[in-house]
Amino acid sequence: MLRQPLLMLARSTRVKNLATAMPVSSGIVHRYVPGETTAAAVEATRALIEAGLHVTLDFLGEDTLDREQADHTVAAYLDLLAALSDQSLARNAEVSVKLSAIGQALGNDGEKLALENARTICHAARNAGTTVTLDMEDHTTTDSTLGILHELRKDFPETGAVLQSYLHRTEADCRDLAYEGSRVRLCKGAYKEPESVAFQDRADVDKSYVRCLKVLMGGQGYPMIASHDPRLIDIAGALATRYERTQGSYEFQMLYGIRPDEQQRLAEAGEKVRVYLPYGNEWYGYLMRRMAERPSNLALFLRSLVSKK
Ligand SMILES: Cc1cc2nc3c(=O)[nH]c(=O)nc-3n(C[C@H](O)[C@H](O)[C@H](O)COP(=O)(O)OP(=O)(O)OC[C@H]3O[C@@H](n4cnc5c(N)ncnc54)[C@H](O)[C@@H]3O)c2cc1C
Repeated sequence: MLRQPLLMLARSTRVKNLATAMPVSSGIVHRYVPGETTAAAVEATRALIEAGLHVTLDFLGEDTLDREQADHTVAAYLDLLAALSDQSLARNAEVSVKLSAIGQALGNDGEKLALENARTICHAARNAGTTVTLDMEDHTTTDSTLGILHELRKDFPETGAVLQSYLHRTEADCRDLAYEGSRVRLCKGAYKEPESVAFQDRADVDKSYVRCLKVLMGGQGYPMIASHDPRLIDIAGALATRYERTQGSYEFQMLYGIRPDEQQRLAEAGEKVRVYLPYGNEWYGYLMRRMAERPSNLALFLRSLVSKK
């Protein structure tokens, strides 16, 4: 019920200014975003890898408004990839990139710019010995993002895609992307979407998730099951058995700070588990999407806002 107002709050500049005056170290922010700098992100990555987990890092930033901001984001990824490589962490840590952060929405040339920038990041990732996954944003960008993915995969077939089960189109997109070598992250979807394109009922989103998962697990690609939902995690395990998939021919993914015990349990059971680790000072939109999924954390957030600790 609170989802829509919270997602609107995510767009409020006044609340954003108030909130981002808080240091990332304040309780609720730190739970989801371990730091603002490359060094902090790398340290958190090391701790997860030492605990037997894999990582995908997201330099926070979206809605890039000018070329300078896009260049800044690319530079941050290059810095991160160099640090992961120098510290021998790149084998177990890749990066997640939002195309909107590297120029996708900048006028007529936005797609071209985002593709060029994504290529630069993919090159650096390959040199470091790791991969890139393109995050998926709201439905107005889906065709553009899949188009850019298609172009990128000509040179970097290891590039990961993300599909969202709340969209009506996604089962068909899963069929298109379930080919050999194709890395596909399946999530429920985190944006407020209209009825014309997306299931509104949680049960329908979950049913769609299962249909999509069947296509991916039964296909030739590499499914990345991004969910904290215990029922969907069980179903994924059952489908792995049904389609005779070995552990490591798919992976589970969860967000930093959410169900860490479950992340550990799956890893100890021999599953490959990757933690999505966001960092940087543009954490506001990300945090608001997490609040929308879990309004019970809102009180905690509002308290830190008022006390500014
Ligand atoms: C690795 C990863 C990458 C993602 N990438 C994208 C992307 O590119 N594009 C996109 O639109 N979305 C992305 N998402 C977000 C996703 O779409 C969902 O919004 C989010 O994962 C919540 O859905 P759920 O499957 O966990 O199920 P839910 O039904 O939301 O949650 C299931 C259970 O998980 C726990 N839980 C869920 N959220 C929280 C929380 N915030 N705090 C505490 N506990 C919680 C609760 O126990 C809850 O009952 C990603 C998610 C993950 C895990």
